[in-house]
Amino acid sequence: MRDPKSPILPGATIGVLGSGQLGRMFAIAARRLGYRVHTYSPDVDTPTGQVADLELRGPYDDLAAVRAFASAVDVVTFEFENVPAATVEAAAAVAPVRPAGSVLHTTQHRLREKTYLQEHGFPVTPFRAARSADEVAAAMAEVGRPALLKTAGWGYDGKGQVKIEAPEQAAAAWAALQSDEAIVEAWVPYACELSVVAVRGQAGETAVYAPIENQHVRGILDLSLAPARVAAEVAAEAQAIARRLLESLEVVGVLCVEFFCLPGGKLLINELAPRPHNSGHLTIDACVTCQFEQQLRAVCGLPLGSTELLRPAAMANLLGDVWQGGTPDWAAALALPDVKLHLYGKSEARVGRKMGHLTALGPTAEGAGARVLEARARLTRSPEITGSRG
Ligand code: AMP
Repeated sequence: MRDPKSPILPGATIGVLGSGQLGRMFAIAARRLGYRVHTYSPDVDTPTGQVADLELRGPYDDLAAVRAFASAVDVVTFEFENVPAATVEAAAAVAPVRPAGSVLHTTQHRLREKTYLQEHGFPVTPFRAARSADEVAAAMAEVGRPALLKTAGWGYDGKGQVKIEAPEQAAAAWAALQSDEAIVEAWVPYACELSVVAVRGQAGETAVYAPIENQHVRGILDLSLAPARVAAEVAAEAQAIARRLLESLEVVGVLCVEFFCLPGGKLLINELAPRPHNSGHLTIDACVTCQFEQQLRAVCGLPLGSTELLRPAAMANLLGDVWQGGTPDWAAALALPDVKLHLYGKSEARVGRKMGHLTALGPTAEGAGARVLEARARLTRSPEITGSRG
């Protein structure tokens, strides 16, 4: 193996575990800087594979195949945090893996993650572990109501979550979750949701983006605005927490911290993602260095780039729902010249599936937000109303 301290320079090959849109945007950034990219996942013709130099298909538990994948690259990173620990260990035996498997281990399991945050003094949503319907009811008595029941592991985008209004609903909620381990979380009456995308390099240097303001619909991110409309002290506190977390977890790579911001400005951490994040997609069009290039720089041991926001921006997700009435009217949206379209190359547009996003730049975050929503509305508006087709 190479000297772990020497940087991995353009021309080298990066291995990506996972093959979704995060890997695709990472691969685009890596190729822009002259790197080669290999991807490994159980699928073919994937968002990442379509833009990578090599797409390898195999199950994550085929450790011989994972070792072969890792031995052909200079460094392994991931775009999907639910990669099994044994897979990461198999890769780590033959190539550096960044961030390390220990970061993945903590953050891929809600209960482990929240316990870590609590034990290390980070502000986290009140929670209790539950392994039966009775424990759910008992936990509700402690965290209060309403509460959210969430699977302990493998959950994302609001999947594996049930809201419970009263202890009598505990049994039904427990049955609906179909899991043997869960957490019961206090329902947080937040004023807004924020995320901070933060990066740490190999020598421990950090770069932290300004907080982004997020709106979710049915547990899925819908709209992000930058800069977040919060007081300067709240923004600084969110960035300071993210920086402390990077150091505490010894991340080499990108870490996104999702926060609930309470009406008085107090911050509670909702969850962590040890990778670029959906809310950070607007950094591609709006910042000096995007979150994917930062991931590349960090895992290659190169200096980190500037996180400066060049213009206020907004990002709106495009879920498969947008396709349900037929092919979206791309030209109508792109007729707004400050709107950028990103599509992930997925052929099947299922309801709720992330297919792409739009970014708009504007004079203010609100202005950009209005613009991006206008662009998204144009995708499905009937031709008579827009007058954009004959
Ligand atoms: P999660 O998958 O845990 O990030 O949850 C997805 C979204 O559900 C969050 O971004 C919030 O909009 C909402 N949510 C999750 N947990 C809570 C909570 N404890 N209180 C209020 N809203 C929540």
